[in-house]
Parts: sequence; structure tokens; C-alpha cells
Amino acid sequence: MRIGIGHDRHRLEAGGPLILGGIAVPSDFHAVGHSDADVVLHALTDALLGAAALGDIGELFPDTDPTNRGRDSAEMLRAAWQRVRANGFAIGNVDCVIFAQRPKLTDHKRAMASRIAELLEIGAEQVGIKAKTGEHVGPVGRGEIIEAQCVALLLKEAGSPGAEGA
Ligand code: MG
Repeated sequence: MRIGIGHDRHRLEAGGPLILGGIAVPSDFHAVGHSDADVVLHALTDALLGAAALGDIGELFPDTDPTNRGRDSAEMLRAAWQRVRANGFAIGNVDCVIFAQRPKLTDHKRAMASRIAELLEIGAEQVGIKAKTGEHVGPVGRGEIIEAQCVALLLKEAGSPGAEGA
């Protein structure tokens, strides 16, 4: 078993929607970034890459490369997962925490989990999505930024080098 962690944050600016967890969440602000600034998918991408010790999202998709401008984070997550899978790993589960003062995410968590499960070709029951506010303090609480932290547990597939019991 291998565990990986990922973190991301992006600034918020006026004008929605907010792209989060692979879906468009109705909002009067959006996250600003080189790509579509989806903090959940970015943190998850790093968690998967980290668990397999395959670098980070910035190495795969440098923000100095103009072809990465506005790039769909779902596409980056899938590319990272394909690289991790090619190294003989399967996903045990992933779990994410979103830090956002607004909007209220309760009604969107299920849709995010379904979308992430679809992107990773796993079951929605393998995807945890949790949301926290910033308690009105700090950059999250003041609505200046949105953040996410994710962990990923990878299992070495039977027959691949390093597999448990192999
Ligand atoms: Mg990012």
C-alpha cells in the first residue's frame, strides 16, 4: 500500500461559476489560475502522483507552457492517473477536504464524488468529499482563496513489481 497527499489553493475573483471537484458550482465568484483552477482535482492529482512517487502536477503540466493555459483539470487528473496506473497501481480510496467560506457545498458533494469516480474509473464509494468553512477568519474565511487537501491510497496490483505477497 502507498499513501499520497496533495494540497492546492487558488485566489477567488468576481464572476462565477466555481469549477470544483470536476463540476461547475453556481457561485458569484470563480477561482483564478493558469488552468481552470479546480483545487480539488489539482490536490487529488498531486495525491495520486505522490503516492506513486511520480512527481507533481507542476512537473507534468508546467504553468510556463502556454498549451497548459486554461487546461481542463479533469484531463490533467486522468493523465496523471494513467501514468500512476501504468506503474502497476490500483486505487484503494481517495479522500478530499475542501476549505471554502462560500458557497455552501453540501448539495454538491455527491456530484463531485460521482464525477471524480468517473474520471478515475472507480466506485463513488471510494471517493470521500468533505467541506469546511474558514470560520470567517484567515484568507479562506475572508473569501480571498479556496483550498483543498486530498489523500490517495494506492494498492500495488497483483503480479506487478512490489505487489504485496508477490
Ligand atoms: Mg492548482
